[in-house]
Amino acid sequence: MGVKRIILVPLTTHGVLEYLDALNEAIGRKLREMGLEGLDVLTWPDTLKPPMKCFDWSRLQYHGGCIVKYLREVFQLIGLFDSSLVVGVGYLDGYEYGLDFVFGEASPDQHVAVVFTKRLKPEYYGEQARFDLYFERLVKETLHELGHLMGLEHCSNYCVMRFSNSILEVDAKPAEYCGDCVLKIKNYISRTK
Ligand SMILES: [Zn+2]
Ligand SMILES: [Zn+2]
Repeated sequence: MGVKRIILVPLTTHGVLEYLDALNEAIGRKLREMGLEGLDVLTWPDTLKPPMKCFDWSRLQYHGGCIVKYLREVFQLIGLFDSSLVVGVGYLDGYEYGLDFVFGEASPDQHVAVVFTKRLKPEYYGEQARFDLYFERLVKETLHELGHLMGLEHCSNYCVMRFSNSILEVDAKPAEYCGDCVLKIKNYISRTK
């Protein structure tokens, strides 16, 4: 019944597929470096484009909760949830009720999170395209949502679990969990064994 694997699911081809193998490798390496063993990081072989009902035509954004629900339904059918955490990654702009936008969203009860990468691109802010910067932000936001899935709340330490609602705040935090959060994740993993 323990959580054994993390499944990264592309929600778009553009802006994601070209980085997905590198993201998979980076997440797996970072977890191991922090002493978090026993979690396989897999990449889902198909792009699961979110249904149009998740798209809000007045905001031109996708609703995070709707995509989480969609991924839950898809992976429920496959029957992987006892042992898996699912993180959808899409070059999309996402929102949640009461917020102008979100970089991502996680539903720990459902074992599903989503990362929206459109606002992680330097070009979004009128800056020059930079692969390294985009990729670092992508790693941070993926680790952040994954942290929520593994039972973490927001953290005020120098930690990837810091709340960030602007790209400056994303850039200011490290792409690692702090010691406190690593301990909590270890507890989470051993609790679910
Ligand atoms: Zn968060
Ligand atoms: Zn922390």
